[in-house]
Amino acid sequence: MKKIALHWQIMIGMILGIVFGFLMTTFSWGKGFTADWIAPLGTIFVSLLKLIAVPLILASLIKGISDLKDISKFKLIGGRTIIIYILTTVIAITIGLLLVNTIKPGNGITEQTIQKLTTEYAGNAKISERIAEAGRQKESGPLQFIVDMVPQNAFKAMGDNKKMLQVIFFAIFLGISMLLVTPSQSEPLKKFFDSLNDVVLKMVDLIMLTAPYAVFALLANVVVTSDDPDILLALLKYAGVVIFGLVLMVAFYCILVAVITKKSPLWFLKQISPAQLLAFSTSSSAATLPVTMERVEEHIGVDKEVSSFVLPVGATINMDGTSLYQAVASVFIMQVLWPEGLTFSNQITIVLTALLASIGSAAVPGAGMVMLVIVLEAIGFPSDKLPIGLALIFAVDRPLDMLRTTINVTGDATVAMIVAKSVGKLGKPNVKNWDDEYKG
Ligand code: ASP
Repeated sequence: MKKIALHWQIMIGMILGIVFGFLMTTFSWGKGFTADWIAPLGTIFVSLLKLIAVPLILASLIKGISDLKDISKFKLIGGRTIIIYILTTVIAITIGLLLVNTIKPGNGITEQTIQKLTTEYAGNAKISERIAEAGRQKESGPLQFIVDMVPQNAFKAMGDNKKMLQVIFFAIFLGISMLLVTPSQSEPLKKFFDSLNDVVLKMVDLIMLTAPYAVFALLANVVVTSDDPDILLALLKYAGVVIFGLVLMVAFYCILVAVITKKSPLWFLKQISPAQLLAFSTSSSAATLPVTMERVEEHIGVDKEVSSFVLPVGATINMDGTSLYQAVASVFIMQVLWPEGLTFSNQITIVLTALLASIGSAAVPGAGMVMLVIVLEAIGFPSDKLPIGLALIFAVDRPLDMLRTTINVTGDATVAMIVAKSVGKLGKPNVKNWDDEYKG
């Protein structure tokens, strides 16, 4: 019998998970049952992906850099990556601002809806948590993010998934130093990391065997924990603007792929789809990273010298979906609560802060909302209205988080292809089946 392709298996798992979740909401015990017996499967899956993220980044980046013939190529790759990341993010924010200013989703929100959302959410612990978190992040100076990139202790950095940029820094430093010693000196280390890289990629294969079941659990849990459908309906126009913007971003990526890399956009989307589906199910580009790396390298043909740098860096600093969402959400909140703040200069400030915020956002669920607080504060949004502002968009945050994470991952993959093409490192895919050597 012909095997069903992985992305279809994942899609079936997602649909069944959503149906199962809705079914469970009809039973009084359904929510508890899903939380106790189904959700843990999804949590284990996300933990497994996070478990291999650090060894994978380390091994693949060190292998990628030490395979380079000279450092100048690394400078080229690094420089182009950062510039293209900034450009795509600015375009995403601009698309968001144009749409929200033309469609004006905030104008349709009645006083009654504001009241309802405020009573329902303004006191919500998660909202206060995000405001407090934004306060902590804001206290640091402008260069703090560069200071934070340099670890004091490599092993401590490796022990904390939030310190991905520190691990990347250490791996680049080690990789470059390996290029500067004689081949006989670097050979044992190189062999070690090559081997680690191959074995960790096999771990990705094994984890992915469980993906269809895991996404079932993740989505069933999202459905049983989601909000009152009436509220979702009131926010439909706002959510629609974000979704429309995200769809435009996909179209933009497809144009870039077609024009710059001369590959078929449909082929690109098909190859990257398992990573997109996981990004959607987990709402975390960091958890999706191992799969994004495997898809981009093996199924799209981007050389490890490029993907091993572009993708981990992208997962942490390039969030086009998140920044588009921040632009739309901040203007939407102003349209409803603070129309006098809608000036041109505030919109320019939104472009700049949303750009920095997307660099600073952690690649985990809900991080975009923390940064939204910083964007709002930067334009002088009245702080007493802040909890109400967040309450306005909170009910639809999870589904939008799932979608923007999918775009974040697609953006990283697109940039990896463009940078690879520009340095002659976009080769033929070397497709292996997920379970190719698995004789379980
Ligand atoms: N969940 C997003 C990510 O991991 C970040 C965010 O927008 O909240 O990419």
